[in-house]
Amino acid sequence: MRWAVTLLAVVAMHLSVRVAVQAAALSGDTFVVDPGHGTRDPHGAPLNVGAVGAGGVQEQAVVLAVGEDLATLLRTAGARVVLTRSYAHPFRTATDRAKDNRARAALANALHATAFIAVHADSSVDPATRGASVFWLRDNSIALARAVRRRLDQLGLGESQFHARHLAVTDEARVPAVLVEVGFVSNAEQARTLASTPFQHRLASALFAAIADAFER
Ligand SMILES: [Zn+2]
Repeated sequence: MRWAVTLLAVVAMHLSVRVAVQAAALSGDTFVVDPGHGTRDPHGAPLNVGAVGAGGVQEQAVVLAVGEDLATLLRTAGARVVLTRSYAHPFRTATDRAKDNRARAALANALHATAFIAVHADSSVDPATRGASVFWLRDNSIALARAVRRRLDQLGLGESQFHARHLAVTDEARVPAVLVEVGFVSNAEQARTLASTPFQHRLASALFAAIADAFER
């Protein structure tokens, strides 16, 4: 479909990325993209704010931008995408942080999603700590986790952790699921990088390419 390929090229140009995937390559697939945190209690008070790092860079804002960009790329490749937070609805409402995190992954189970991708940014008391991490739990998630690791490796963030891990979302998810930490907002250099719109596009492109590696038919 030439129009779809052209549309993909336009989106790729807009996102300053090159993507080597055919438009409609993921048609019929559903993905739940979960930009982490951003939850308030029913009275509007912060319940799950996420890390705030060097220079005031907010994890929840960085990962919302990456998640929206990733959703755009996936939709352009023909996939259905459900965002747990979006520009239109940046804050979730919940009374319990762990239950809210489980509900995000439970949504992917209920939709029989092809995969669930949680996007976070890391924080440490040591300002020198840097690097991206990828976590998963079940064996059905290993191929996606490896693909994400391989694609993120090309961005020069360094690696912090890569291993199976019990987390609210990885425990809950039955579909292939990964939680990605895209670098440390507590590291001044990585905070600056993560706050930049072009780099957020590159992160989204890397996650998109990893998903295509793992699931493109
Ligand atoms: Zn987080």
